[in-house]
Amino acid sequence: MTHVITRACCNDAACVPVCPVNCIHPAPDEPDYGTTEMLYIDAGSCIDCGACVDVCPVNAISADYDLPEEFLRYEGIAARYFSGEGRTDYEQEQVAVKRRAWGTETQDAPLRVAIVGSGPAACYAAEEIASQRGLDVQVDMFERLLTPGGLVRFGVAPDHQDTKGASEAFARTMRRKNVRLFLGAEIGATVSHEQLAERYHAIVYAVGAMADRALGIPAESLPGSHSATEFVSWYNGHPDFARRTFDLSGERAVIIGNGNVALDVARILVADPDELARTDMADHAIDRLRESSIREVVVVGRRGPVEAAFTIPELLGLTQVPDLDVVVRPDEVVAEGPPDSIAGLKAEVLRELSVTSPTTNRWVTLRFLASPTEIIGNGWVEGVRLARNRIVEHDGRMVAEPTGDVEELACGLVLRSVGYLGSQLPGLPFDEGRGVVPNVAGRVVDGDHRVDGVYVTGWIKRGPSGVIGSNKRCAQETVAALLDDFRDGRLAAPAVADDIGPLLPHAIDHSGWKRIDAHEKAVGRDQRRPRVKLVQHDAQREIAKTVG
Ligand code: NAP
Repeated sequence: MTHVITRACCNDAACVPVCPVNCIHPAPDEPDYGTTEMLYIDAGSCIDCGACVDVCPVNAISADYDLPEEFLRYEGIAARYFSGEGRTDYEQEQVAVKRRAWGTETQDAPLRVAIVGSGPAACYAAEEIASQRGLDVQVDMFERLLTPGGLVRFGVAPDHQDTKGASEAFARTMRRKNVRLFLGAEIGATVSHEQLAERYHAIVYAVGAMADRALGIPAESLPGSHSATEFVSWYNGHPDFARRTFDLSGERAVIIGNGNVALDVARILVADPDELARTDMADHAIDRLRESSIREVVVVGRRGPVEAAFTIPELLGLTQVPDLDVVVRPDEVVAEGPPDSIAGLKAEVLRELSVTSPTTNRWVTLRFLASPTEIIGNGWVEGVRLARNRIVEHDGRMVAEPTGDVEELACGLVLRSVGYLGSQLPGLPFDEGRGVVPNVAGRVVDGDHRVDGVYVTGWIKRGPSGVIGSNKRCAQETVAALLDDFRDGRLAAPAVADDIGPLLPHAIDHSGWKRIDAHEKAVGRDQRRPRVKLVQHDAQREIAKTVG
């Protein structure tokens, strides 16, 4: 879809500066502005945001699907303008204008930036670079999987479809003319870091943190004990996890840790399968959850409710699930928290909205002040041994300290939800303890040295914290550092002029992803669901290659 300028165009160009993708031409600083009959919208770049409609003083702009019959010809007129011969010269002039604005007139090619990853951190970084007004830049995004989106597709819980709305903005970024997408391109496997480094001025790693922190307790990996990240990836249809199996035949599951991931997983485990069947949850997971015998999910936090890692919106969300009690033990919710603080509110909400014994068929129990010391079981999980804690202040932080009391909690499934961890990337320094690539404001550093031209953003930069939007500020900081380095002449020109494309003959591009996306949504429409995910690589590749 696009917007179209029609007969009444007054050429005052009020629409030009509000266009976020610079798709209205000729702009006042362009050569043919003085002679043009009217302005035109480039259908190839327009993202349908409608910002131009709001400011047009003469109501000359309409969405193409709203175009009155008498104005239908204007679509073709704009297309002719953008395909016209004069256009080529004009584009070259534009490049020169951009380079003058950035003080890089001697540069004979665009700034070339590779972004590794396609999740929120990668998309925010791509948008921040590709949308710089006046910058002549080409951004290439590389994704190991055949579908983009990272944690928006594989992390956000399927019953939180509104959160997935962020992917609309990311899709707009990927549609930009100066952004290319390479799916099925694993840096370090399909192409090396060095091959990227010689073809791009700068590389931004935005690969997230997909490994798990370990608890370091006996029998942690006993069959029946899994990381929550595995379970999340499984129900969200991540191809690497689609064949995992989880035993849901016991009546109780225990989740260790009480961050938002733990609450997501708890909610999903006791959700009504008919509700889940209206989401984009992977079909294999819906089928298994229909057979589940789990009635109680116990979420175990090592500190008290005031210190709990879950957020108030997620806690309230859990208490609002129909026909689902949230159960607490009154002796574990005694702390008050600082008056008027959000932390104090957690305890207040729990006292107000929870019960002490369940009345519903399925329920979530939030336990506090308990740390796992061992997973118990003979060849298979049969329970968890817990040490009771008290809260003490240590170096200004409230920490858990064992009281010496222990208890055993029987269960058939344990999910460890104690945080994600970044993994070492080939050719880059790594901070093992924090699971991040060492950096200063996004610039990768190795000891005292900067690794020129290499940057990080998102969880691999700052660790696994924050929600989707937190990655925007993070990306802005990294991109600001990259652009400062560009202005200061610190980015070496690519040593190899060849395009990366021939090294990735099997990669799927944006049009292939659009076919997968359209297919998933079309199947979803038939089932009244947002989409039905393709989870196998072969199926994804087949649809991506379909023509017509
Ligand atoms: P998290 O918020 O860091 O929570 C980790 C939990 O593990 C905490 O309860 C922590 O306890 C506990 N833990 C760590 N080590 C432990 C140990 N050795 N023994 C027992 N417990 C231990 O991590 P997350 O839940 O994986 O979430 C990651 C990020 O994604 C967070 O920023 C989260 O808000 C975000 N997220 C947001 C949403 C949403 O907004 N809907 C959904 C999912 C994730 P302590 O607090 O005592 O350290």
